[in-house]
Amino acid sequence: MSKITIQVRLYPTPEQARLLMAHGQEYISTVKAHLPSAVKNQALRDAYSVFKRSLDLGCIPLLKKPICQWSNQNWRMDQGMLLLPLSIEGKVEQTRIRCADICLPGRVGILRIKKKRGKWIADIALTIQNAPPTDGKAIMGIDLGIKVPAVAHIRGQGTRFFGNGRYQRMMRRRFYAQRKKLQKAKKTRIVKKRQNKESRWMKDINHKLSRQIVNHAHSLSVGTIKVESLAGIRKGTTRTSRGASARKNNRMKNTWSFYQLTLFVTYKAQRLGIKVEQIDPAHTSQECPACSAHNKAQDRTYVCAECGWRGHRDSVGAMNISRRAGLSDKRIGATGA
Ligand SMILES: [Zn+2]
Repeated sequence: MSKITIQVRLYPTPEQARLLMAHGQEYISTVKAHLPSAVKNQALRDAYSVFKRSLDLGCIPLLKKPICQWSNQNWRMDQGMLLLPLSIEGKVEQTRIRCADICLPGRVGILRIKKKRGKWIADIALTIQNAPPTDGKAIMGIDLGIKVPAVAHIRGQGTRFFGNGRYQRMMRRRFYAQRKKLQKAKKTRIVKKRQNKESRWMKDINHKLSRQIVNHAHSLSVGTIKVESLAGIRKGTTRTSRGASARKNNRMKNTWSFYQLTLFVTYKAQRLGIKVEQIDPAHTSQECPACSAHNKAQDRTYVCAECGWRGHRDSVGAMNISRRAGLSDKRIGATGA
């Protein structure tokens, strides 16, 4: 089972929008007040989760934007309509708000309504049943990098490259240059905005890449996908660039985006019943896939000095990852859940 949140666009009437805004403002003032009343249980649970999140983030969260939540018993979505109780002039009434007509693939949980960039959005928590394990036997190893965003190797079936490293580097440089310029001009608000834009752009790419990778795995009957240990990615020990250009690429390392891509691959694979194992990534790009000797690739081709094995240097990492045994749960620093 995995938990996800999906976003559904809402189309409230002006009157409904006014009501939602009023509810949101009332709601966050309740959460801020930490009222210990039994009736305000949900608000307290929020206060708690906000508090817990603040521990992760290391800062005190600001509930500035009006949001409002309903627990799963109180709302439903049906044929492009969201039905939920709203308090209208002191009386609670079931209200129908038009929304995007989508099918909710799982057990629904909390509904949260917020206004984002002028649009009303419903965040819906879903618990999704993972597919039963596939009977696929093939094993895929995935190596993430700067030059090639993702390399997937399926044992006995070859290597495939995903993403456009050159384009991603160019975009990153552009975002970086703009940020520097704005920082110099002390335009902090716009800097923040640009940063958000960059992370939305990256998230979108990671969603697309992970979808392509998992579809590729699925179509070739992969039963197990091996990825670099998430703990390693978090610590920033992942090998993201090779050779002399490492320093130049430091800024680009952006380990959180590797972390995000790995998480996306993990949950998308698990939903199809594909097992995901984490492996220790040490020396995966240097080891010879045939005899395990350590070599440094000099140019595009990796040549083993011991046994003479030759291959594309960017595929060596993924080949080795596909051969390695998965880490036991104890050694995995972070799970993909
Ligand atoms: Zn060798």
